[in-house]
Amino acid sequence: MISTKKRVAIIGAGIAGLSCAQNLEAHGFAVTLFDKSKGVGGRMSHRYFGDWEADHGAQYFTARDPLFKEEVAQWVQADVAKPWSGRIVTFNHGNTIDKPSDATRYVGIPAMTSPAKYLANRLHVHTQHMVVDVHRINDLWKITTKEHGQIPEAFEYLVLAIPSVQAERLIGKYSAELKAICQEVVMLPCWTLLAYLKEPLHLAFDGAFVEGSVFSWLARDNSKPNRPVYETWVAQASHAWSAAHIDHTQFEIEPILIQGFQELTGVEPDLHQSHLWRYAKLEQANEREFALDLSIAVGLCGDWLKNSTVEGAWLSGYRLAQQLKQSL
Ligand SMILES: Cc1cc2nc3c(=O)[nH]c(=O)nc-3n(C[C@H](O)[C@H](O)[C@H](O)COP(=O)(O)OP(=O)(O)OC[C@H]3O[C@@H](n4cnc5c(N)ncnc54)[C@H](O)[C@@H]3O)c2cc1C
Repeated sequence: MISTKKRVAIIGAGIAGLSCAQNLEAHGFAVTLFDKSKGVGGRMSHRYFGDWEADHGAQYFTARDPLFKEEVAQWVQADVAKPWSGRIVTFNHGNTIDKPSDATRYVGIPAMTSPAKYLANRLHVHTQHMVVDVHRINDLWKITTKEHGQIPEAFEYLVLAIPSVQAERLIGKYSAELKAICQEVVMLPCWTLLAYLKEPLHLAFDGAFVEGSVFSWLARDNSKPNRPVYETWVAQASHAWSAAHIDHTQFEIEPILIQGFQELTGVEPDLHQSHLWRYAKLEQANEREFALDLSIAVGLCGDWLKNSTVEGAWLSGYRLAQQLKQSL
């Protein structure tokens, strides 16, 4: 029997794409996700380096919107997220001031990617499919990936759940409206240092919003629930510093990051890794939540259409799915 379900291709299996997919599937669409990475979760990332590991992108998330609270309650129930009760402070030249949150700080367990993997388990996801072009042929969308060329299946709808600059590259030639929306926002970079220490660091906090340093965030990854016990730290450079050093190589930046880490903590990492997130966060929150051009059946979602949080990204995907459903 031929399915009458509307087919949707979603490019990007970060939390926005997965949330959109989950909701579209619940409303009777047939969804296929494509992601260029080896796994799902995008910037809710966790990296393994042989014998050690750490959360690499998003550090924790909060839930304030009732819909997202409900979703997070399901993640907790499914054992893929837990509250993080670490001591969070502001840290300025050795002085610490507690920084309580009005909302529970959650983390994925056993890794930040876990909620994304949980959603993806019930969806049809192609990883290691980097979409390099999209084509509109007879009112249907076709997709070309770097690894597999043109995908045989055609789709009635196309959703781009990828950062604005990458979305513009794919869809700009088809929609002046969507192109302009992509160009409205500025995404800021973030240089990140992940550090493994043989000996525990005796700092009086588990996470710190740092002032007066290259870094703006420093966290003891092993203070999060269900993590390995050995000492690992994540240090994220400020967006201003990262933007000023965006064209530098890893080779040039690593010594500066290591020196900054030593100035903050008093020790050098025994092992380390660094990474540049080129499109880490949105400069300013966006009122749009999502974008949709029904004349060509294309939607955009992602944190950059709402705010650069896990919650913002999830809500963006959810709201786009609701709108697509209503448009039928
Ligand atoms: C360093 C850092 C720290 C952060 N800290 C926090 C925090 O503490 N709390 C918080 O709530 N949020 C934090 N964030 C923000 C949060 O991670 C993001 O807002 C959220 O994860 C974005 O989800 P998304 O689905 O919109 O995008 P992404 O997670 O970026 O997902 C996009 C996906 O699209 C894929 N993709 C891109 N281009 C293509 C292509 N051409 N073909 C196929 N696939 C493609 C990517 O591989 C990726 O998986 C942080 C982000 C960073 C980088």
